[in-house]
Amino acid sequence: MTTYKGKGVYGAVAVGKISVFKRQDVQVKREKVENTDNELKRLEDAKAAAITQLGEIYEKALKEVGEANAAIFDIHMMMVEDEDYNDAIVEMITSQNVNAEYAVAITGDNFAEMFAAMDDAYMQARSADVRDISNRIINCLMSSVTNEEKSNEPVIICADDLAPSETVSLDKDKVLAFVTAHGSSNSHTAILARNMNIPAIIGVGEEFLSAVKDGDIAVANGFTGEFILDPDAETIEAAEMKRAEEQEKKELLQKLKGKENITLDGRKINVYANIGSADNIGAVLLNDAGGIGLFRSEFLYLENSDYPTEDEQFKIYKRVLESMAGKKVIIRTLDIGADKQCDYFNMPKEENPALGIRAIRLCLNRPEIFRTQLRALFRASAFGNLGIMFPMIANVWELEEILAVCESVKAELKKDSIEYSEETELGIMIETPAAALISHKLAPMVDFFSVGTNDLTQYTLACDRQNPDIDRFCDTHHEAVIKLIEMAAESAHRYGKWIGICGELAADTTLTETFLRIGIDELSVSPSFVLKVRDTVRSIDLSKN
Ligand code: PEP
Ligand code: MG
Repeated sequence: MTTYKGKGVYGAVAVGKISVFKRQDVQVKREKVENTDNELKRLEDAKAAAITQLGEIYEKALKEVGEANAAIFDIHMMMVEDEDYNDAIVEMITSQNVNAEYAVAITGDNFAEMFAAMDDAYMQARSADVRDISNRIINCLMSSVTNEEKSNEPVIICADDLAPSETVSLDKDKVLAFVTAHGSSNSHTAILARNMNIPAIIGVGEEFLSAVKDGDIAVANGFTGEFILDPDAETIEAAEMKRAEEQEKKELLQKLKGKENITLDGRKINVYANIGSADNIGAVLLNDAGGIGLFRSEFLYLENSDYPTEDEQFKIYKRVLESMAGKKVIIRTLDIGADKQCDYFNMPKEENPALGIRAIRLCLNRPEIFRTQLRALFRASAFGNLGIMFPMIANVWELEEILAVCESVKAELKKDSIEYSEETELGIMIETPAAALISHKLAPMVDFFSVGTNDLTQYTLACDRQNPDIDRFCDTHHEAVIKLIEMAAESAHRYGKWIGICGELAADTTLTETFLRIGIDELSVSPSFVLKVRDTVRSIDLSKN
């Protein structure tokens, strides 16, 4: 038994036989040609055929992974027509009298290497796209097929890397998982895997390729990124158990997939998921959440040893938005302080940190940190359906200051001709009793409220959420907390705004009916609770008393 560690890009467990993915080795030889006009004509025909194939792949991707993810094949079509790329190929054919296959192969390699050498991780990931289209044109020139189906039994595909078009062409019924030696979680291949619900591990390392053979047994754990070759009986049993749990979930998923979260009397409720990292997206999609109701962005800061830069943040937010393909993504601004301490912030020691410089207080006191995050967020807003949410609000003036900073950041972006979405919703968390009590003043200023019941309970009942000794005093169903939620809901609706709950209480299905009767429009819970909450919503009849 040997364990290899990669990066799980889509959480699920697979146990089964391996099939090593082999591309038909395209042996491109340099050949001298007399008639270069004929070669240029062959090139044009092959490009036209490649574009037809890409159009078909686009249609398949559109059905399986949605428009935003299918867009990569639109880009591939444009790359086939790219002027610089084509000029380089034509120049090589005409000046060196070589065959089109050779000119495409060399030009493709040159462009791919140029992308790979760039500093930007996004541009580096484009290297695989150039190779993909070049191979496609070469295959069209040679009229050969890239991969053959070898088995009817579902298998774990092991490959050096998979091009986006190869990933989307996989027959989902025949693939238990795919595991690649290389690849980045930024690549379109990883994004597609998440959207196609295929368990996937990438970046396992070169040595795994020489160890795997067709027919070997393996366990691929897309949650942990572990790929276990030749597992012992105990490991197989544990993996099978995990799979059985997933099966139950899958059945619930089948029951709910494509169905609206609608009560028996017809009220629509959004059921979203909470995440702490872009790596949790697999779980969000696996559980068919309608969106992301809370992305706790502070984990980006907690995982780092220095402030994440605007660009670093932008790439992560953009990746989350693109992966969610137009579904709502609510990113909460930095909520550092209290129990979430970060050394490099050099915060002064406080007697009562939960009542001190945390969350929005820190951001308003240190505007350079806040502006960096807001610039990254607004820049990312051009790539999906973003909502920005501010934590720990207690005063109207805080919100006035926040909105002024947002306006100034947007003006700055506009001045620099940097795109952002004017549709970006701005909302606040209701997690202090003060915010609930003045919610009638806050509601007209924002697009939505989201109730943070963890803190709302702590601050309403004066119960430290970190102290297990006061558990019995910390009644999460306390009528004072429910009353405050009710007040906030009333205010939100009075001004035509929506209100959700993103604290842990949102997953307590004994309260779902109470929340819906109060008028809650959205419930955002850990990915693993999404299906249960959806099932509960669909069983409630609000027309009955
Ligand atoms: C909450 O307070 O309910 C909440 C969702 O925020 P956090 O748990 O991150 O403080
Ligand atoms: Mg909170």
